[in-house]
This record gives sequence, structure tokens and C-alpha cells, in this order.
Amino acid sequence: MRTVRPALLATALLMIVAATPVPAQEPDWTAASRETLAHLQAMIRLNTVNPPGNELTVARHLEAALKQAGIETHLFEPTPGRGALVARLKGNGSKQPVLLMGHMDVVGVERDKWSVDPFAAEIKDGYLYGRGAIDDKGMLAANLETMLLLKRHVIDNGGTLSRDVIFVANSDEEQSGEWGMGWLIKNHPDLIRAEFALNEGGRTRIVGGRRLYVAVQNTEKVPHTVTVTARGPGGHASIPLEGNAILRLGRALARIGEHREPVQVNPTTRVFFTELGRVWPVAPERTAMADVASLDTRRIQRGARVLARTPVFDAVLRNGISATIVQGGIRGNVIPSDATARLNVRTLPGQSIDSVVRRLTRAVNDSLVQIAVTDRGADAPASDFRSPMFTAIRESAQALDATLAVVPYLSTGATDSARLRTWGMQAFGLLPFPMNQDDEDRMHGNDERVPLSSLEFGTRMIYGAVLRVAR
Ligand SMILES: [Zn+2]
Repeated sequence: MRTVRPALLATALLMIVAATPVPAQEPDWTAASRETLAHLQAMIRLNTVNPPGNELTVARHLEAALKQAGIETHLFEPTPGRGALVARLKGNGSKQPVLLMGHMDVVGVERDKWSVDPFAAEIKDGYLYGRGAIDDKGMLAANLETMLLLKRHVIDNGGTLSRDVIFVANSDEEQSGEWGMGWLIKNHPDLIRAEFALNEGGRTRIVGGRRLYVAVQNTEKVPHTVTVTARGPGGHASIPLEGNAILRLGRALARIGEHREPVQVNPTTRVFFTELGRVWPVAPERTAMADVASLDTRRIQRGARVLARTPVFDAVLRNGISATIVQGGIRGNVIPSDATARLNVRTLPGQSIDSVVRRLTRAVNDSLVQIAVTDRGADAPASDFRSPMFTAIRESAQALDATLAVVPYLSTGATDSARLRTWGMQAFGLLPFPMNQDDEDRMHGNDERVPLSSLEFGTRMIYGAVLRVAR
């Protein structure tokens, strides 16, 4: 081997470096993860249990971080103590904006059931514990980091975005939403108008110890309240009466409990089960998923029977009816003349609640039992799972883990996204942090936590999706 003089070697190396085109600068993910974690810890330590919320404290924290990076911000106080923060990275305007949103409020805690202080943001065995870690401060931290990285690695690097990227942190999601997204749409629509929105509401699931799928919520069930009222003769309890309203209600509820709404497979559910069936580890369920996704009525029914054993699968295949409150009677020795039960009914998108009530009335078959809609939910159009935003999410997730299935998902829970979809935006729900069922069940529960590795994974997934849709 020939010897080379050190100076010559250095010059040669310099020439090679100079001749290499500047690559798209990949963030230093070790540093970025550390930064995301620090922001998430700081936000968990600011107690925003709603009510009362006090989200303004978190809004100020986020505003300071964004401002420091030179990002335009708008901070509002919809009502004392509540905050609404909007920030924007400017693109070249060739495409419509994309919106990243998250809520700053959290639900309350049963302190004595936690093994750690829910507001200390403690790290233990590879997890960050704290109220809001996965709902929804984790996503806020990932969204914030995405903004900071886009600014540093794209814009400050001489790059351009094809769309504005808007960041929204809102209040009051866990209660009425009056001071949250509803307030922003009403008061500052021009600041937040976008083609696509990324919100909470999806799942990234670990099954059997491995990352299996990303469920991207593109539509949701519509919640309604239905009241069942049974009437009968009132009187003194010492003389039992035929047609006692409470017993009548009991019979009606037993029939409602036996009633099953018909199976309906909509375009989202069909693709959901087709794609999920390809990676699902349990063979009989895999077959059932393929059956449900087929166009053959008999196969659909057969598959639905198998999947019905898993309540969440059953819930996406038909309108759901849950009895939630019973009321009747005033005194232990008085037969009341009426008794009521409240049903929480969730219809599949496009299904009529009035038809559900007609079917229930037929099933109960009692002229002294009245079934009526007392609070009617509004249907919102589904977001398109063939849109560039969905594709960007899929590509970003699969760049991190090629084995992941990325599926559109009809959620049984209601989110702010319905509001956005009605307004004309294509909103998609994520929970970008890979988690098993146990971790996921801690949402709104005790010892809420996020695996640190999942926090990084989720941040990279959001950053990658936004970079792809805005390039
Ligand atoms: Zn939430």
C-alpha cells in the first residue's frame, strides 16, 4: 500500500466532501428526543385538570418555545385562565395549509390509585409517567418538536415548504369544547383554515410484543341520547298494581338488551379489516376480517359473528346502544307513574338515528313505553383515506417500521375532528406512540404513561408525515 502525505490526504478528503451535494439534513434524533421529553415533562408539571383547566400556563410555555425558535405565534385568552395558541410556519403557498392540533387540558386523577405523583413527570423503567402523557400532551410535545425541527432543518437551512404548517394548542377538549376548537373556529377562522388536520383519535398498536398497525382515524361514530320512558298507574306500594312503570321499564330494557343493530360495512371499515387482516396474528380472526371485508353477504355475517366477540370490533360494525342512566321513583312506599332510562346510542356515519328508534320501538312492542331522541348528534363527512395526507402518514410510519400496517379507522369515540370535517377540513386522528393494550387503557385512568422509545417514534412519525405532505 502506498503511503500518502497527511496534507494531501486532508485535501483529498475535503474535495470529496465538497463534491457531495448537501443532503436533506436529518435531525439529530437523540437531541430532538431529549428536547421533546423536556417539553412534555414541563407541560405535565403544569396542572391543567379541566375543570377549571388553567391551560393558559401551558399555552405560555409553548409560545415561549416557538417564539425562541423565531416562529410566528398568536396567543388568545378566550376566557380568564384558558388559552388558545396558534403558530405558523410559512410555506410558499403552492398548496393549502396543514394543521397540527392538540389539547392542553387533561382529565382529573384519583391520586390514591397512582403509584407516582401524577403531576411530577417522573421517569421510571423507560416510561414517562403523568396525567396527559398520552392524552394529549404527548402529541402536543411531538407537534411542537415538529415545528421546531421544520424551522431549523428546512426553513433556516434555505429550504421551503409547499404549505403553511399551523400549530394549534387548544383548551377545554375534555369538557364542552366551548373554549377550545369551537371558539377558534368562531373567532379566528382565518388563522386556522387548512386542507388537512392532524389531531388525536387514532392508535399505534403493539400486539404480542411487536408494532403491528397504525390506525388513522378518518371518521367517527355519531353520539345521540335516546330516552326510554315507561308509564303506568301510580299509587301506594301496599297494593301492587298491574303495569307498574318500573317493571314495565325493566321489560323494555331487557328487550333492548337483546336487540342487535344490523351489521354495516362502510368503505373505511372494509379497508380497515382488509389491511388489518393481513397482519393480524390470530388465524380465526384473520379469516373473519377477510370475510367481513368481502362483498358476500353470507361471509360478512359469518365474519361479523366471530369479530363480535371483541367488543371494539363489534362496535365499528353496527350502531351501538348502551344504557347509561335509570331513573324512577320518589319514595320507598310509592309506585311511581313513570320511569326512564337513558341510552347512549352511537350511529355509524350516514345511519339514521330515527331508524334506530323505530327498530327499538318495534323490539319493545309496548304502547306505554315511549322511545325518543333527546339529544341528536350531527353527522360529519369522512376524511379521504386516499388523500396525500393519509399517504404521507403511511409513508412516514413505514419508513420507521416497514412491517407496520397503516389503516383507516372509524373511531367509536367522538373528537373535535368531527367539527373540523363539518367545516370542510380533512382531519385525521393519530396516537403516534406505539403502545400495547395495557398502556393504552391508562388513558383517562391511573398511572398514565408513555414509553420513552414510543415518544421518539411518534415524534418522528409526525415530523416525517408533515415533511412529506408539505414538501
Ligand atoms: Zn384527548
